[in-house]
Amino acid sequence: MLGLMQSQPLLISSLIDHAERHGGDGEIVSRRVEGDIHRYTWRDVAQRARQVARALDGLNLLFSDRVATLAWNGYRHLELYFGVSGSGRVLHTINPRLHPDQIAWIANHAEDQVLCFDATFLPLVQAIHGRCPGIRQYVLLCDAGKVPAGTGIPGLVSYEDWIGAQPASYDWPSFDENSASSMCYTSGTTGNPKAALYSHRSTLLHAYAAALPDVMALSARDSVLPVVPMFHVNAWGIPYSAALTGCKLVFPGPALDGKSVYELIETEKVTYAAGVPTVWQMLLGHMKPDNLRFSTLKRTVIGGSACPPAMIRAFGEDYGVDVLHAWGMTEMSPLGTLCTLKNKHLAMPLEEQNRIRLKQGRAIFGVDMKIVDGAGQELAWDGRTPGDLYVKGPWIVREYFKGEGGDPLVDGWFPTGDVATIDADGFLQITDRSKDVIKSGGEWISSIDIENIAMSHPAVQMAACVGMPHPKWDERPVVAVVRRAGMELSRDELLRFYDGKIAKWQVPDDVVFVDAIPLGATGKMLKTRLRESLKGYKLPNT
Ligand code: ADP
Repeated sequence: MLGLMQSQPLLISSLIDHAERHGGDGEIVSRRVEGDIHRYTWRDVAQRARQVARALDGLNLLFSDRVATLAWNGYRHLELYFGVSGSGRVLHTINPRLHPDQIAWIANHAEDQVLCFDATFLPLVQAIHGRCPGIRQYVLLCDAGKVPAGTGIPGLVSYEDWIGAQPASYDWPSFDENSASSMCYTSGTTGNPKAALYSHRSTLLHAYAAALPDVMALSARDSVLPVVPMFHVNAWGIPYSAALTGCKLVFPGPALDGKSVYELIETEKVTYAAGVPTVWQMLLGHMKPDNLRFSTLKRTVIGGSACPPAMIRAFGEDYGVDVLHAWGMTEMSPLGTLCTLKNKHLAMPLEEQNRIRLKQGRAIFGVDMKIVDGAGQELAWDGRTPGDLYVKGPWIVREYFKGEGGDPLVDGWFPTGDVATIDADGFLQITDRSKDVIKSGGEWISSIDIENIAMSHPAVQMAACVGMPHPKWDERPVVAVVRRAGMELSRDELLRFYDGKIAKWQVPDDVVFVDAIPLGATGKMLKTRLRESLKGYKLPNT
C-alpha cells in the first residue's frame, strides 16, 4: 500500500518560489566588483532568475546543458543559481583560482555552453576562450552597456542586456528530482580533476539538513554572510538554505580582506558567517590591534581545514561568538559533520567544552560514517583508534561525472581520504589525511603535480612534496629534492622552474635538498617518514 500524500518532486525552483511568496521582502546585500553596495530582495532574485531561464531558452539550451560561472559571491551569481538549475540546466561553478590550463580543461570536460563571469576574470577568459570551442555565449556580469570594447571575446554581452530583454514571467518546469542541478570539480590526487554532479533532490535534502538547529541553525531572523565562495561547493549550500529560511544574505564580492569583511559584518548586522580558517585569521588580525568588537555576530561556521584551538578560544572568549566547527567535502555537498554540544556537555567547565569543540563534530541526519582499518574492518568508536573514514548518504557522490576514475565506492561507502577517530558520543575528529594533497587557505594543491614538475627538471633525480604548517594558510607545500649526481641546482632555480606551469599560489614555498627520499617496501614514497625527518623545519618568513 502506498501512502496517500501529494507527490511533488524536490526541485530547486521550489526554493526560489518559496522565498518569493513567503519571504519576498528579505534583503540581499552585495558588495559588487565595482566596489559599491547593491541591495534588493528575494522577490527581485526570483524575478530575475526567471529572466535568466528565459535567456537560456532563447539560446535553445536543452535540459541538462551546462552553464558555467567564474564569479565571486554576489546577487547575479545567486540569480544564476536559481535560473540555471530551476530551468533544468546544470550550473557549473568554476574555481577561478585554478591555473588557466586547468580551467579550460574543466570547461571542455563539462561541455559548458555558456560562461558568465565577473569583470575580475576578463583577462582569464580572454586567455582561454580560444581553447573552449563548445562555449557559444559569453556573458560579462556587469551593467548594461558596460562591456569594454576590444575584448576579443566573440559575442560577449553584458548580463543586464542579456536578461533585461527577457519578460519576467516563466513557469518553472517540473521534472524528475534526481535530475542533475549543479556541478563542482575537485582536484584529485592523481590525474585530472573530477566533478561531483549534484541533483535537485540531493541539494534540497542538504538544504533542509543544513538549516537544522544542530547544523547551521539558519532562520528568517538571521543575517548571513557566506565568505566561503559560491564556486566552492555552492558556498556550503548556504544560498539554498537561505532561500528555504528566507534569511537576509550578505555577499562580500571580491573583498575578502579583514577590513572589508569586518565593515560588512557591522553595517549589515550580520549574525552568522561561514568561511575557512584563513579568512577568519585575516578578520581577527584586523580587529585585534584596534580592539574592535562585533555588535551582532553570534555564530560562525568554520571548516574546509581544521580550526586552530586559538581561533575557537578567541572567537568565544574575546568576542562572544560561537564557533561551529564543520567537516565535509565537495563529494558530500559538502556537509558531513558539525560540532555542536549535547545537553549533557552544557554543565562541563569551559575548558572541557572547548576540547569537544575542537573536534569536527557529529554526523548530520542523512550522513552515516564509519572508520575502518587497512582490511576494511570497522573500528571502535573509542575516540582513540584512528581509521580510514568512510561515508554514505543521499547527498554523497555515487560516481563522478562521466564515470571518471571508475567506481569510487567500497561496499556502498565513499572513502573520504581522511583519517579520523570517532568517540562514544559520535564526535568525529580528523587526525590525518591518506590522500596525497595539501590544503592551503582552503584550496587544494596536488603534491603529485608539484613532484612531477620537479622531476621534469634535468637536475632532479627524485622529488617529494609535503605540506608544512603555516600560521595564515594552514599548510604550504615544501618540495624535498634529491639532485642528480654531479649536477647543480639551486633553490631559486627550481622555484623559478614552476613559473607558468601551475598557479602562482600553488608554487612550493621552499625546496629542501636531501640525500634520499624514504621509500617503502613497494617503492612508494613514505611521506610520513619524510615529514618526521623535517621535524623542527620552519617555513621561510614564518
Ligand atoms: P571543503 O573545503 O568545502 O570542505 P573540499 O572537497 O575542498 O571541501 O575539501 C574536503 C577536505 O578538506 C576533507 O576531505 C578534509 O581533508 C579537509 N577538511 C574539510 N573540513 C575540515 C575540517 N574541519 N578539519 C580538517 N580537515 C577538513
